[in-house]
Amino acid sequence: MEKVLNYIGGELLPARGGQWLDKPEPATGKTYAQVPDSDATDIQHAVEAATRAFPAWSATPAAERSRLIRRLADAIRGRLDDFARAESIDSGKPLSVASSVDIPRSILNFEFFADAVTQFSSEAHATDGVALNYTLRSPLGVVGCISPWNLPLYLLTWKLAPALAIGNCVVAKPSEVTPMTAYLLSQVCREVGLPPGVLNVVHGLGPKVGAAMSQHPDIAAISFTGSTRVGSEIARVAAPNFKKLSLEMGGKNPNVIFEDCDFEEALATTVRSSFSNQGQICLCGPRIFVQRPLYERFRDALVARTRALKVGDPLEAGTEQGALVSQQHFDKVMGYIDLAKQEGGRILTGGRRASLSGRCREGWFVEPTLIEGLDSACRTNQEEIFGPVASIIPFDQEDEVLAWANSTKYGLAASVWTKDVTRAHRFASRLHSGIVWVNCWMLRDLRTPFGGVKDSGVGREGGWEALRFFTEPKNVCIKL
Ligand code: NAD
Repeated sequence: MEKVLNYIGGELLPARGGQWLDKPEPATGKTYAQVPDSDATDIQHAVEAATRAFPAWSATPAAERSRLIRRLADAIRGRLDDFARAESIDSGKPLSVASSVDIPRSILNFEFFADAVTQFSSEAHATDGVALNYTLRSPLGVVGCISPWNLPLYLLTWKLAPALAIGNCVVAKPSEVTPMTAYLLSQVCREVGLPPGVLNVVHGLGPKVGAAMSQHPDIAAISFTGSTRVGSEIARVAAPNFKKLSLEMGGKNPNVIFEDCDFEEALATTVRSSFSNQGQICLCGPRIFVQRPLYERFRDALVARTRALKVGDPLEAGTEQGALVSQQHFDKVMGYIDLAKQEGGRILTGGRRASLSGRCREGWFVEPTLIEGLDSACRTNQEEIFGPVASIIPFDQEDEVLAWANSTKYGLAASVWTKDVTRAHRFASRLHSGIVWVNCWMLRDLRTPFGGVKDSGVGREGGWEALRFFTEPKNVCIKL
């Protein structure tokens, strides 16, 4: 059975305590690998390695760091098929998605920040002819990156790339649910000659490994992506050490479709924004609000498209919906489908475990599910389900749907569909959301600030925001 290893001080190692966690394949439900069950001693080892590496790495010219990070990107590209297959087997997502989205985007994260760091500059302020102020920006030192299971390598590299490019050393903790591509990345770091200790990857459980990172006095910052519950726990534990925090958390995003939208575009994109990666993307829009004159036509077309989605073995070409990531998550999603029924929802399509044959007989597959008849305030429409389950609701007035869109505790992303450009601007400015897409979804420019408001997040990733987060500014004032 394959064994994932930690990557500490340039070496691939088991957990010091010698313990392992079983790692099942979501499509089959069977254990196929083992992951180190690391603890605080492994984190201590990694922090020491990172601390030793920091003086030389932070003093390395940006152009040289950039060159090494590009080599990482090139090496992943050279093994794209291995990475994509590993991501698909580990997470249950279709291989076609891993090879066209997850892995290419991970490569792009490294390339983007390898370029960005060579263009990064700091500010200067000439103060009325009296003084000159300028800002120095230094890397923080050793930083912690904690990532979730839904886009495993993609979201991990979204943190690693800016942190490393600007000169920090990193202790990273991938999700224990999907460790495999972080392990492959560790191998690639050794191949391209990343200096030992610059990146350290410690595998294991959140309450052991992640908690040890959040408490560690020598980790200057934590960049976290995951659930709001865990983000809140990290904030509580990290606060006494005054760690810098970036928290990207849950969402319950609205998808608002006005009657004057481009019907075909809105429909095709709504299928994607509801069910991509089995609905396990923080940016998915599971609350679909449709203006009344369009409602029945849109609903019926959406039901037909949803029913046509092919649920199947993630490794087979043609599969559009793979497995949910774990038994625990499968149970949670099925529990919400039951709740939706109890709350009076009508299942328009889906609503059951998808039964597959052959090797996927016992996999954690759920039929893409559409629910109608629930009001905006019920739990199904307020709580994050994070699965292939969307709820469709008619509305009449702009103000009414705005209030519903803004009614959850989350505020990560929103989509708005209208050809009325004035309404698009007006509505976008009134949404409580870190990201608003008009007539599109998940159209990304890596320079833009990425993150959420309310319980969806603290801070922003992407572009200069990420490079600023991973640096400490110092103002120098010179009297003229
Ligand atoms: P999770 O919060 O359970 O776990 C995320 C990471 O935190 C994992 O590596 C986990 O091991 C670790 N962790 C768990 N307990 C910890 C603790 N006490 N201290 C430190 N670390 C701990 O999230 P998940 O289930 O892996 O991912 C799904 C969630 O992530 C959803 O809520 C989703 O909305 C969110 N998400 C948000 C974004 C975003 O950009 N805002 C992107 C993707 C996913």
